[in-house]
Order: sequence, then C-alpha cells, then structure tokens
Amino acid sequence: MASPLLTCEIVTIFPEMVADALTYGMPRRAVESGRMRIRAVDLRDFADGPHRQVDDYPYGGTAGMVLKPEPLFRAVQAARDDEDASPHVVYMTPQGTPLSQRTCERLSLQPRLLVICGRYKGIDERARMELVDEELSVGDYVLSGGEIPALVLVDAVARLLPGVLSDAESALYDSFADDLLDAPHYTRPAEWAGRSAPEELLSGDPKRVDAWRRREALRRTWARRPELLKDAALSDEDMRVLDEIKTESDT
Ligand code: SAH
Repeated sequence: MASPLLTCEIVTIFPEMVADALTYGMPRRAVESGRMRIRAVDLRDFADGPHRQVDDYPYGGTAGMVLKPEPLFRAVQAARDDEDASPHVVYMTPQGTPLSQRTCERLSLQPRLLVICGRYKGIDERARMELVDEELSVGDYVLSGGEIPALVLVDAVARLLPGVLSDAESALYDSFADDLLDAPHYTRPAEWAGRSAPEELLSGDPKRVDAWRRREALRRTWARRPELLKDAALSDEDMRVLDEIKTESDT
C-alpha cells in the first residue's frame, strides 16, 4: 500500500452519515489504495456532561441553536496534538468562498485537512475566529448541515489524488480541469432513438476524436458558461474553432 498522501478528518455530530457516504466511489478507492485516510470525528466525544451537549441557545434570543465553541476547540486541538502535520482547518459555510476545481486541486496537495461541519444556526463566531483557516461554500443556498458540503469537498479532492483515477478516467478531461466544460459522451448502441453517435468518435482516429472533443468542449462552454472562456488557456486553433462556432450559431 502507498503511504497516505492526505489525511482527512471530518468533525460532525453525525459521524455515521459521513462515514457511510465515503464508502462509495472515489473516496472509497482513495482509501482502499492507501492514498487517503478519512476519519469521521464525533463532536460529542469532546462535549461535557452526561448529555454531551454540543449546542446551546444563541445570545440575543434568535430562534435555533448554535454549536458551542469548547467541543469544537477540543476536537481541533486533539487532531493537532495527535500527529506531526497540523491540519488545515476548513469550515463549510454558505458564507465561505465558493468551492471550485482550483480550490480542490490546492487542497488535494495538503497533507492533512480537518473539515468542520456546522449545524443549526452555525458555529459560535469565536470558534470560527480561533480555529478556522479557510471557509468554503458549496453554493448560494442554505443546507441544514455541513456534512453534505464536506462530502462534496472530500469526494472532489479524493479523485484528484494521484493513482485514484485510472489514466482512462483522467481528471484532465473533466469539466473545469482546463477551465472548459467537458465534451458530451456517447456509448453503445451507435444508433439510438433516431440519433447516431458522432462519426468522429466512431472513426477510431485519435486525432479526429481529440479535435472533435476540443471543439465540443469549446461549444458547450461558450453556450453554457461563456465567462469561463476568459480564464481558459486557448490556442490559436481554439480561437479559430471558437470563431467558427460563433458564426455557425449566427446562421
Ligand atoms: N445561519 C447560517 C446557516 C446555517 S446552516 C447562515 O445563514 O450563514 C447550518 C450549517 O450548514 C452551516 O453551519 C454550514 O456548516 C452548513 N451549510 C449550509 N449551507 C451551506 C453551504 N451552501 N455551503 C457550505 N456549508 C453549508
């Protein structure tokens, strides 16, 4: 087994929810191949008293509950104490920076991540200030907890670790890898519902296949997310193809 490239701890009041979800797909493969270690940490293990209370009423009398600072502090401290590399601490919050493929690439290079999942109204502001290195959002909507956002992050990072995807599945071709959306995909049968798979893909000629994929990636991106083209590294040939695509759509 390869030595783990990334250790990831997820601090949550629902450790089973997180642990179960990570036994599928790329996170599972990343763990089984030894590239990644994932641990769901139960916040209640760091709470006081017989009820192991992790939440409390908000000051100021608004509705809902807030995750208390001390259990979060102890959970992060325990992670800092038990190994050499101190974890990069991420808090999933709708107020964070929108998660992107670039961020996932950067985080996949960290030796150790600790992801805090909020619940209820969120976490005590002082815990955020004391503990958190980076705040990330999965989009402009509010979920009931940070577990699903944490799973989104860990899944996206796991598939970027070297050796997790096979060459054929390479992340290089995915949407956003080069700031373009992915080209459409086809499988057998070659004819279905009166539509055939593009003849370039059926041609068996790698040059034609690549040219077709690049053109369709440019077409998709221009049609659906034109703002991505601003940052994409486009060759002269890409620019020429893009002009053709724009002209085609005018006619
Ligand atoms: N009152 C907070 C939202 C609390 S939602 C606010 O308006 O900012 C409860 C928890 O769910 C949050 O602490 C956060 O961890 C998680 N969460 C909800 N929506 C999220 C999103 N879009 N991205 C990341 N985490 C989210």
